[in-house]
Amino acid sequence: MKLTPLLRCPLCQGGRISPFRKGTIDPQAISSADFRITDSRYGSRWALDSCRDCGFVFANPLPDGEAIAGFYSALADEEYSQEDEGRGRNFSLILERLRCLAPAGASLLDVGAASGIFLNLARGAGFQVAGVEPSAALVAEAESRYGLKLFRGTAEQYPTGETFQVVALLDVLEHVTDPAALLGSLARLMAPGALLVVVTPDIASLAARVMGGRWWHYRVAHVNFFSRRSLTRLLADHGFTIVQTRRFAWHFSLHYLLSRLLPLRRGSPLQKPLERLHLKLQLFDSLEVYARKEQR
Ligand SMILES: [Zn+2]
Repeated sequence: MKLTPLLRCPLCQGGRISPFRKGTIDPQAISSADFRITDSRYGSRWALDSCRDCGFVFANPLPDGEAIAGFYSALADEEYSQEDEGRGRNFSLILERLRCLAPAGASLLDVGAASGIFLNLARGAGFQVAGVEPSAALVAEAESRYGLKLFRGTAEQYPTGETFQVVALLDVLEHVTDPAALLGSLARLMAPGALLVVVTPDIASLAARVMGGRWWHYRVAHVNFFSRRSLTRLLADHGFTIVQTRRFAWHFSLHYLLSRLLPLRRGSPLQKPLERLHLKLQLFDSLEVYARKEQR
């Protein structure tokens, strides 16, 4: 893997950058499996720097975006669908808020749509849905499970001509090596007044500070981290005005949490009863931001 040392902050171009956390992975030893959505080796991370001007935290040296894109296109993650119910609850709350902020029957594009869980619910909530997903296995799963035809690739590759009234970036921003370029290509797919919803880990959250290097959002797939300040900056730079900021609380089943702590086998008699027990994990360590593209 090629790595590029950065001398300036990739978000604000400021030169006052300093070491934030030591890296714990060997960039030359990583593979597609390290990018699984359900990767549970928390604490794994690239060497991270932070910008003293805007607060952005980013992998430095920067891993090669094309190599990472290759890992995602080869990705298969069978565990992801096991958590449909928990993910569905998270997504239903976002859809309720979108229905208040967007017109009825609005067109919606989900970027990084995975197996289509969010899009399936969005369609049920009356949105006209489309999705982008780089992994061939997840695109196939979205079609076989929900009959959704996702565009296989990245937002940058999505055909122009179509614009959307709502774009969703749910746990995607922290995975891309050039978030500014992603925002630029999304702006191209959105009409003035269109709504963007972003969910991303909050590096300035209490959980991130208390858990230190063991914070569960540190993982190989996460190459950058935003705070409210740096995310506001990124959105403003691309002509977005924030209309609502929330703290996102993840829902997980007890089975999912325990299987990450204990060697609980699939098919164990405890699996079914545990899967039915949902609890809301209130760490408030993700940002959930709604922003409108300005009229220009
Ligand atoms: Zn900066």
